[in-house]
Amino acid sequence: ASSSNPIRVTLFPGDGIGPEIAESVKQVFSEAEVRVEWEEHYVRKKVDPRTQSFLTWESLESVRRNGVGLKGPMATPIGKGHRSLNLTLRKELGLFANVRPCYSLPGYKTRYDDVNLVTIRENTEGEYSGLEHQVVKGVVESLKVITRQASLRVAEYAFHYAKTHGRQRVSVIHKANIMKLSDGLFLKCCREVAKKYPEIAYEEVIIDNCCMMLVKNPTLFDVLVMPNLYGDIISDLSAGLIGGLGLTPSMNIGEGGIALAEAVHGSAPDIAGKNLANPTALLLSAVEMLRHLNLNNKAEQIHKAILKTISEGKYRTGDLGGTASTTDFTKAVCDNL
Ligand code: NAD
Repeated sequence: ASSSNPIRVTLFPGDGIGPEIAESVKQVFSEAEVRVEWEEHYVRKKVDPRTQSFLTWESLESVRRNGVGLKGPMATPIGKGHRSLNLTLRKELGLFANVRPCYSLPGYKTRYDDVNLVTIRENTEGEYSGLEHQVVKGVVESLKVITRQASLRVAEYAFHYAKTHGRQRVSVIHKANIMKLSDGLFLKCCREVAKKYPEIAYEEVIIDNCCMMLVKNPTLFDVLVMPNLYGDIISDLSAGLIGGLGLTPSMNIGEGGIALAEAVHGSAPDIAGKNLANPTALLLSAVEMLRHLNLNNKAEQIHKAILKTISEGKYRTGDLGGTASTTDFTKAVCDNL
């Protein structure tokens, strides 16, 4: 962190409100004197035959080279003959885990005040393997694939995350009472990894019970790790507990330590270009990115300034019930640094 060479980060500002909220991150980083050099990449209008996607090979290569990136929302292109943007990123960068810290923002009132949990979702297999077919008319089959390799990898990441982030407990979320073989294997892999981390408490919670516990008392949870589809649902459920996707940071972890932080909301075409977007989700994702880079002091400083701005309540964007513009909010965060 003390080295004088700036850290190169690939930045995808994205579409719609993306460039406005990316500008906010750039300003806050510059004000906080984070030594980052942004390599900006945009989604093209033409398919790159090397990636079969609107994302170019150069963009993907930039993330591979830098090992770290920040992604704004991308509008989903319509039409055929290309791979989805998110699928391209996931496959090409080997993004195997999606990590979403979910914590209550002081001063922004929701049903709960003290949520502080992290969902870690296996991101490459399970129900998302894309293996569906019609057996006979009126009957389809969809294959859920669980492998030892992918399960161990995400379990290992979850425990490593818990250990390096001062977390006490990892809960594995499953339905192994019904999916005896598939979720059973996932559980078995988590148990194996848990043995290597005796300092971290380990528990197994059935998905339906987990949902009930989350809405009744989310403080019961710390780090949650789970297969793909359960992760898809539980991560949005958890975001809902603290005020929605506009406030939730997200990180994707890939092969060789690649980290791609992203805002999980969309490009909000209804308010794009109007200086109305809330940059909080992208800013908080950028904070997670700094933590991943071990720039913990800068991360903490920026994090506090964001929380203070929201908690003061004077500069809140429309989605949080305020009237501040994106630039007003950004300036307030900079002033609070
Ligand atoms: P959306 O998230 O863009 O918008 C839903 C609603 O939330 C809108 O009213 C919007 O104004 C509001 N909103 C979202 N983010 C906001 C922010 N930061 N500040 C203030 N308000 C915000 O969802 P959508 O309209 O369904 O999708 C629009 C486009 O975004 C589509 O092309 C979709 O495919 C794409 N999308 C991309 C991602 C991604 O890149 N991760 C995720 C979801 C949707």
